[in-house]
Amino acid sequence: MLIVGNWKAYVESQKKAKTLFATAKKLALTSRVKIALAVPGPYIGLLSSQNRSKVLLAAQDVSVSLGGATTGEITAAVLKDLKVAFVIIGHSERRAMGETNEIVSEKIQQALAHGITPIVCIGESERDIDGTYLAFLRGQLHAIFQTLSQEQRQEIILAYEPIWAIGKNAANALSPTDLTEMILYIRKMLVEYVTEMGAEKSIILYGGSVEPSNASALAKDTGVDGFLLGHASADADIFTALVKALLIPKVASSARLKIRP
Ligand code: PEP
Repeated sequence: MLIVGNWKAYVESQKKAKTLFATAKKLALTSRVKIALAVPGPYIGLLSSQNRSKVLLAAQDVSVSLGGATTGEITAAVLKDLKVAFVIIGHSERRAMGETNEIVSEKIQQALAHGITPIVCIGESERDIDGTYLAFLRGQLHAIFQTLSQEQRQEIILAYEPIWAIGKNAANALSPTDLTEMILYIRKMLVEYVTEMGAEKSIILYGGSVEPSNASALAKDTGVDGFLLGHASADADIFTALVKALLIPKVASSARLKIRP
């Protein structure tokens, strides 16, 4: 099981960053969950320099820039230098700022070229009884996968994040039953791009108001490989309670993870 904590801009002091990181280090000592933290850009260096732990570092975004005269951009080369293992790409909060599927694809190429695993977010903004949202998801997936080689298609992690479930609370998250259906649906769509075996192996995370009270139910028998957390990852007590809820053997042993070095 892979747990990726996206601190977004919730963490605004080095002190809090270090405390949260230390909490994750302790939790990561168990081999049953893998923890990655997507921290604000400037804190990557701070935490990377002292990281001898099992906690993996992630970035919240990456530039399309190849480097050079692009003021303010954080390139994949810089992330690689800081030993970043994952980068979140196409998060709905960045898509809302104008990030298109084309930009998402360029960023995936940058990450892969530097040995960083992209965590690519997809998800509908609302649901309708006619199932239009399923066609929307199919379109998002197609836009991304058509730009990738066969090999690259197996190198990315997908995060299914229905936008309507983000930033709420456990009561408003996707239900375990719906998550099971969506993971199945996504794997079925993946068969077109990576074959049946590839689709089975693909890593799919869920994100959207995962909290200590719903984490275990969402993990158990739903076929999900882990979670992308937002607000629950920015509070040490809540994050600890959530990870502990996942340490029930049955939940954690469903893990199958390949992580690029
Ligand atoms: C997110 O924004 O990716 C997310 C999952 O946020 P939250 O957990 O706060 O809903």
